[in-house]
Amino acid sequence: MLSFEKARQVILENITPSGVEQVSLLDAVGRVLAHDIVAPWDMPLWDNSAMDGYAVRSADCGQTSCKLKVTGYLPAGAKGDGIEVNPGCAVRIMTGAPTPSGCDAVVPVEETDDGQQEVTLLQPVTKGQHIRLRGEDVMSGTFFVRAGAIVRPPEVNILATFGKAAVPIHRRPVVAILSTGDELIELGRTPGPGEIVNSNALSLAAAVIETGCIPRILGIARDNRESHLEKLREGLKADVLLTSAGVSAGDRDLVRGVLDELGARQLFWKVGVKPGGPTAFAMHGATPVFSLPGNPVSTMITFEEFVRPALLKMLGHRQVLRPLFKAVLREKLLKKPGKVQIVRLLLENDGGRWFAGSAGNQQTAILKTMVDAQALAVLPAESSHFAAGDEVDVHFYGNYCDLTEVSR
Ligand code: AMP
Ligand code: MG
Repeated sequence: MLSFEKARQVILENITPSGVEQVSLLDAVGRVLAHDIVAPWDMPLWDNSAMDGYAVRSADCGQTSCKLKVTGYLPAGAKGDGIEVNPGCAVRIMTGAPTPSGCDAVVPVEETDDGQQEVTLLQPVTKGQHIRLRGEDVMSGTFFVRAGAIVRPPEVNILATFGKAAVPIHRRPVVAILSTGDELIELGRTPGPGEIVNSNALSLAAAVIETGCIPRILGIARDNRESHLEKLREGLKADVLLTSAGVSAGDRDLVRGVLDELGARQLFWKVGVKPGGPTAFAMHGATPVFSLPGNPVSTMITFEEFVRPALLKMLGHRQVLRPLFKAVLREKLLKKPGKVQIVRLLLENDGGRWFAGSAGNQQTAILKTMVDAQALAVLPAESSHFAAGDEVDVHFYGNYCDLTEVSR
């Protein structure tokens, strides 16, 4: 049986970032830049004023107060051609306007008497003050956003500043979702005896949407070879195929056998993790195939721990695992040694330290604990006993909101 860590490694080694398409700036938000972007010009493009005030020669203004003749006006948008600051003179200037020749400092209007014909400077002037230099933000020819950057408002702003209306972005993989089982009915019907609503298709689609990929729900394969063949064949046309259920050792568990018939190369089956033990992973050509256990809690947790990092890698993300941090256990946790155990937790931040307690019944059939959980602990395989006060590795799951903070 493969370890949890090794299983993740095998998956990520087999996944490559998807191809690149040009995407308009706002459609790129939340997606990942595929190439470094080079500045086509200096930013700012010319030396300019950082303040509304007066462009001056600092040598004229050594003493605490001095009087200068106002000889010109440069509002924002002015080109500044032909305007010069002569000795003993000042030019009125607005923020962003190019600084005129001769000028080596800008005096903010607040530090003057705001004169129109003549201006009195009320404070000493330092050479270079309040001038933004050409290229001080970004130099022409340098990379100003790098491949792997997530496009957020700051990236949008700087890309727009440099006139980039469209940017190279990793494609969004289409993820096919196949449910298997004779007991399943589609959402909208009330389940009769022995029937279960195909909720996994929807929670998997939701999880796919959260990553930024595109879900394609294929429906239900019934527990016979023909139905599996037809549906799996269809699923293998997508960029990624996810199946749920039918991957344990029962005689109705057909997924792996039929995938094998269709030419998929199984890379592992059974992982040392609870929940999620029966998970299988295969490659069919370049298409990764994840066969997840059918129990809804196991399906969601194996998606979170195995599929999500893979999809994020395809989307071009560099950080594909959620960051782990330490939380102090409020109560003891027991587990069997030999497998990693994923535990659903509630979190609380107290004085800058994280504390964690169980989110409820940890059995894999209990969905409500999944809804309530704010974090998952990844308890290492070798340990079996965690006492109250021990620190464990956790990562956020879903929307963390510290309710104790809110109620204060
Ligand atoms: P199996 O792996 O086929 O033995 O399924 C394990 C458990 O997951 C059974 O209790 C199934 O009823 C349940 N299950 C399987 N598929 C789904 C699904 N698509 N939606 C909700 N529950 C499911
Ligand atoms: Mg089944």
